[in-house]
Amino acid sequence: MSELTPMMRQYLEIKADYPDAILFFRLGDFYEMFLDDAVKASRILDITLTSRNKGTDGADVPLCGVPFHSATPYIARLIEAGEKVAICEQVEDPKSCKGIVRREVVKVVTPGLVVEAESLSPKDNNYLLAVYGEDGPRWGVAYLDLSTGDFRATEVDGEEGAWGEIACVNPREILVPTASRDNGIGRARTDLTAGRMITCIDDWVYDAEYAERTVCGHFGVASSAALGCDGWSNGVRAVAAILHYLLKTQKGRVDHIRELQVYQTQEYLLLDEATRRNLELTATLADGKRRGSLLGLLDRTVTAMGGRKLKQWINYPLLSNEKISERLEAIAELVAGSDLRREFREQLDGVYDLERLNGRISLASANAKDLVALRTSLEKIPSLLELLATTEAELLRQLHCEIDPLTEVAELIRSGIVADPPFILREGGIIAEGYHAELDELRAISREGKGFIARLEAKERARTGISSLKIRYNKVFGYYIEVTKTNLAAIPEDYHRRQTLANAERFITPELKEYEEKVLGAEERIVELEYSLFQEIRQRVAVQGERISRTADRLATLDVLAALADVSHERRYCRPEIDNGELITINEGRHPVVEALNASERFVANDLLLDSADNQIVMITGPNMAGKSTYMRQVALIVLMAQMGCFVPATAAHIGVVDRIFTRVGASDNLARGQSTFMVEMMETAAILRNATPRSLVVLDEIGRGTSTFDGVSIAWAVAEYLHDTERCAAKTLFATHYHELTELAVTRNRIKNYNVAVKEWNDQVIFLRKIVEGGASHSYGIQVARLAGLPVEVIERAKEILRNLEKGEYAEEGVPRIARGKKGSPPPPSAQLSLFERGDDLLRSRIAGLNIAALTPLEALNILDELKRMV
Ligand code: ADP
Repeated sequence: MSELTPMMRQYLEIKADYPDAILFFRLGDFYEMFLDDAVKASRILDITLTSRNKGTDGADVPLCGVPFHSATPYIARLIEAGEKVAICEQVEDPKSCKGIVRREVVKVVTPGLVVEAESLSPKDNNYLLAVYGEDGPRWGVAYLDLSTGDFRATEVDGEEGAWGEIACVNPREILVPTASRDNGIGRARTDLTAGRMITCIDDWVYDAEYAERTVCGHFGVASSAALGCDGWSNGVRAVAAILHYLLKTQKGRVDHIRELQVYQTQEYLLLDEATRRNLELTATLADGKRRGSLLGLLDRTVTAMGGRKLKQWINYPLLSNEKISERLEAIAELVAGSDLRREFREQLDGVYDLERLNGRISLASANAKDLVALRTSLEKIPSLLELLATTEAELLRQLHCEIDPLTEVAELIRSGIVADPPFILREGGIIAEGYHAELDELRAISREGKGFIARLEAKERARTGISSLKIRYNKVFGYYIEVTKTNLAAIPEDYHRRQTLANAERFITPELKEYEEKVLGAEERIVELEYSLFQEIRQRVAVQGERISRTADRLATLDVLAALADVSHERRYCRPEIDNGELITINEGRHPVVEALNASERFVANDLLLDSADNQIVMITGPNMAGKSTYMRQVALIVLMAQMGCFVPATAAHIGVVDRIFTRVGASDNLARGQSTFMVEMMETAAILRNATPRSLVVLDEIGRGTSTFDGVSIAWAVAEYLHDTERCAAKTLFATHYHELTELAVTRNRIKNYNVAVKEWNDQVIFLRKIVEGGASHSYGIQVARLAGLPVEVIERAKEILRNLEKGEYAEEGVPRIARGKKGSPPPPSAQLSLFERGDDLLRSRIAGLNIAALTPLEALNILDELKRMV
């Protein structure tokens, strides 16, 4: 290193601390990048790579740079490309220092820590998430949106629970301990980590004591229990990892992260990752877009904060009957009051993203336009409060109390900042007239000075008789009098030559010099003073950060309520009745998204009845394409919407609150995880049987489809029996299958009820009626559907023949379906004598009852299923 120039040495020393970031090294008006950083950045940014000889050994140093005043879009592009950028500034004035100017990294921008509006999508949070699970069965998950200050933490059951939260939070960047880099979380689920930056944090940061100290120190509490993290070990460490990373990257500017929202996932309707995906809550299965998802349909929010909150409501439906009813009551009032709803939405429409403005103000990166946006937003509040004052619903009354008009903040900005300030903060033109006496005075001088120049020009023209004489200004020479060469003879004695041009000469006079000093001095001072006044105003607003953030949150709630009311009104949704009972009934329910998007086919509404006494399992048979999946998803979505506190697409609905929704829908290979369709299907089914409770809603679509028919029917049959017979997991279940054989289950299990999707057979064709009716389908119609799909006639005819042969062997002599038979050789019981049948099935039963499902691996489960099948 001794051969290097002092500057290069300084560069390399700083770079050594940020090996994983591209270092933006401030040199005058540019950020320069060197060496590997330069090569990489020039490629990503498509800027010219040059080189300069920095070493005495003659080696070239690759180099590229971007102007500092327009660096933001370049930084954004590097972040987009998955890089981190460390911003290194000159931290002393180059004019007043000897030798090389001191430089320091002032912040590190990473994908999870972006705060610039240009790089953020308004209606999505940009989360940095930390996960830790080394100590004990409960995993800690913490996440922060630095741009809004939203900071949450929870502990969940095991790695599976952690993945559930990660899928739901959808972070841009994940912090993991270095120790788990190769064997742990990043590797395990590449499907969920793809596209997210994984950052390793030193293992010592997760030391229990150190973590506790970090958290207590930041939030100013004596123990993390005071924050609600009672009894946590991994959760506190996840929070500490985030705080540690913030300190390292934000260099202390983290004061606005004042609140940690600690929550228990058990307080919400739990949705595992597969269910979230299957129900297409916030993104579609096909292309991952918002459009076509439930969020896409419901999102009529007019503010960015409202958009983010709605997503939160969808991701975390409630369990508390009271809280759900509170929301429903507010929405009911807004559905009924069309004018009220419209006025709320009109007023909210002008409210900017207060959370992100607040974040930028706290981070001292807000400009004057941001403050004006805050002011105009706050100015909408009084009329919103007037509207809220007329409302009756409890939640709206509460918002009326809690929305703070922040009058003095609005007034401060109104009096201090002009209505349309420039983006740039250091060129003046920001502070309003009348806000600061000295500034007004300086401005008067500056204005007067300019008037003086005009008058002086007229005077000098008269004095010299040179009509083309001009007084002008430039940055190098200041003010000067310009006289063309032809007129030089007429210049007076007190003109002092400054500069000679081709056709003219430039002069200065003592009088002009004196004014120049006064005017320029004033202008310089104005710019300086304006900047410091602006900073002072911004600081005074920043102090109110907590109030702004609370108000932003309440405005977001109002926006969501009005938006949901708007959809409910337009799409004729009804208010569901909610209680803690066992009953779920839906009259004329519709699938909210299919109904809205599929305009070509009129949506056929369907009813539902589920309870724990007689209708625990609804077995739905019907051919492929009949509408089974749509029906089951619609039921799950209606329950979920009801628990969000939203109206539902039905004419009436009664929802006994459910604790979890599980879905096993469709077949999707998870190649990224290296698992086959069937394996994924079985793993998801195993998870359901392990975790479902009598209060859960389970949706099983075509279980066992990924294997041979006999295997498939057997597995489906056994799973349905298990859900029926095992008290611990006797969940309300919708079970769709095109194996019409499964309708026989209702003969032996009294809480299983058969339904089918009606089809009309006509001339050997099937017409889908989309109506769910009682009773099982008599056959699968697979061949008819195959015909619809265009299979050759010969194939269809032959398939029919084979089907007839197979069906002949379906029933035993006793008239009982062969499939229901128990142990080999034991006489199959007549269907009327239920008790006999159960006794005959004892061995099978005791084998299943003796299983400890929670302790089984998916492979063991498959082997046992195989064994069970052989026993049948
Ligand atoms: P299955 O699960 O029985 O194979 P799907 O639920 O996938 O069938 O439905 C097949 C098609 O029928 C879907 O494209 C859907 O748009 C349409 N569909 C389903 N249910 C209805 C309904 N109740 N009214 C109108 N169209 C429906």
